[in-house]
Amino acid sequence: MGKIVGIDLGTTYSLVAYMDATTNEPKCIVGPYGSALCPSIVSVDADGTIVTGEAARRRLLTQSERTIYSVKRLMGRAPEDIKDELKIFPFRIEPTSTNVIRVRLGEKVFTPSEISAFILRELKSWAENFFGEPVDRAVITVPAYFNDAQRQATKDAGRIAGLEVLRLVNEPTAAALAYGLHKQKRGKVAVYDFGGGTFDISILKLISTDEGDIYQVLSTNGDTHLGGDDIDNALLVLARAEIQKQFSLDLSAHPETVQELRKALIRAKHDLSSATKASIQVALPAGLIYSREISLREFDELIRPIVARTMEPVRKALADAKLAAKDMDEVVLVGGSTRIPLVRKTVGDYFGRPPHCELNPDEVVALGAAVQADILDSGVKTMLLLDVTPLSLGIETMGGVVAKIIPRNSTIPASAQEMFTTGVENQTAIDLHVLQGERELAKDCRSLARFQLKVPPGPAGLARVEVKFLIDANGILQVAARDLRTGQEHSIEVQPSYGLNDAEVERMLEESIEFAEQDFSERQLIEARNEADTILKATERTLQREDLSQLSREERSNIDESVANLRAAVAGTDYKEVRAQIDKLNEATTHLAELVMNGALQTALQGKRLDEV
Ligand code: ADP
Ligand code: MG
Repeated sequence: MGKIVGIDLGTTYSLVAYMDATTNEPKCIVGPYGSALCPSIVSVDADGTIVTGEAARRRLLTQSERTIYSVKRLMGRAPEDIKDELKIFPFRIEPTSTNVIRVRLGEKVFTPSEISAFILRELKSWAENFFGEPVDRAVITVPAYFNDAQRQATKDAGRIAGLEVLRLVNEPTAAALAYGLHKQKRGKVAVYDFGGGTFDISILKLISTDEGDIYQVLSTNGDTHLGGDDIDNALLVLARAEIQKQFSLDLSAHPETVQELRKALIRAKHDLSSATKASIQVALPAGLIYSREISLREFDELIRPIVARTMEPVRKALADAKLAAKDMDEVVLVGGSTRIPLVRKTVGDYFGRPPHCELNPDEVVALGAAVQADILDSGVKTMLLLDVTPLSLGIETMGGVVAKIIPRNSTIPASAQEMFTTGVENQTAIDLHVLQGERELAKDCRSLARFQLKVPPGPAGLARVEVKFLIDANGILQVAARDLRTGQEHSIEVQPSYGLNDAEVERMLEESIEFAEQDFSERQLIEARNEADTILKATERTLQREDLSQLSREERSNIDESVANLRAAVAGTDYKEVRAQIDKLNEATTHLAELVMNGALQTALQGKRLDEV
């Protein structure tokens, strides 16, 4: 078996790290350009050669139509999900009939997973050069808010790159691991991640289980369009206005100069993280030179509104976690933009404690991924990490419809329960059919298990059966059904994802989106038929039992006709027709129902005087 690494697959930069056996500390691997940061950029040459990282970054301007950045924003998303991104980013999305996005790069077309795989391959080769050995397994980090499809797409990227993805770890959890906070039992951790294009805040809680300690994500919040890029843009707006004023020069017609200016401004921004002033010098067209000094104070005033925008999500995340700023045991800073002194000060003041920033903020996540990789590699089970359920779990109910009990993408361990009852008179057992999948109907989901719970015979709807689903930290599902009246209980254990490979999971998800419309009408039909069945039975019973002398002949024939029409509708497949006929029968039986009600009332009132009622 080859080596194992931890990878931070970031929006702007990606990194690869490993556990150093001699120091027992995680370390990032430096690439051929002397930096551990690999720009998350991919470019395709006219001859089809793939260029990644720093080399691709250099083509952003010259070969923009064959170069892509920020592909993470497209991972696991459907064409209609990315409308907002398309307003900001120049992605060239190919028209498609499926729900999988494809991006054009020059003459070729790729899925976001394939593009991310090119970045992963580059990092894999950095690591292989470093070790002089093959690397075939990895832990990859994802934002805590990533849904199942986004996680799945990230796993796919790993597989395409020839890496077995041992686990996906939430980025904030990785940050807490990198600082070893789990070892110190620091329970409540706020992770403030201010990167290049995104801002995330996560509130974590260390919880102890029989199997070891795990970090649970209590809440996350953030802004997917707020980051260092906004600071760069603010600086750029300022500089361009000054250039306009000083030289009467509009840079709109000079994209190369704008690019150079942006680079110089970013350099100044970085300098200001460790100095109180920085200088900017850029050659403009026609031999002109833009030169100025910027003080930290001026910079702080410029970016104050941007930094302030991060605090609203922080407040929301704390509110969602039902915790106050002072409840946090630790605050961890992640992301290159947290090097900015004003950011550190703002966060520190808010939480009333100095935040952790001893580690490189842009390396923290990768370092944590390496810690997790090492834990998995050495088989040490002291630290489990939360995973999510890839597919929904539920129970089949009347007519083959699925009642979802634990929705997909729930963090595990998870538990949920629901009440069920009997649908038929004198039923002696309830069949429980446990299912996995996103489709509305049992027949389209994956059957995990079936079992029976005995119930005492009685009228339909009398039994009260509580079905409880519990998924433990290993992803093992336990289903228990309990008759609340008798105390009878039966339970079974199932391994939900056992035997289901990633491609199948993906297919099931894709299908559920594709078939959503069809499922909807099928489900509607089943529900309408169930309802029709109940009404038909009730009507028949009433017609047999009740004294119908007060019903006119016309009313009686109207009811018979409506019953026949509803039966005909039930035999068909149009749920709207079934609903329409249910309404008609309800209308036709209004008087009958009144008579029955009155009859019941009279019986109840017998022997009682009106004023006693
Ligand atoms: P992401 O996780 O979004 O891929 P990073 O966490 O690597 O990105 O952060 C990249 C951002 O951090 C960029 O906007 C970069 O300019 C900024 N950054 C890096 N170093 C510094 C620094 N010394 N001072 C200010 N900003 C910095
Ligand atoms: Mg990041």
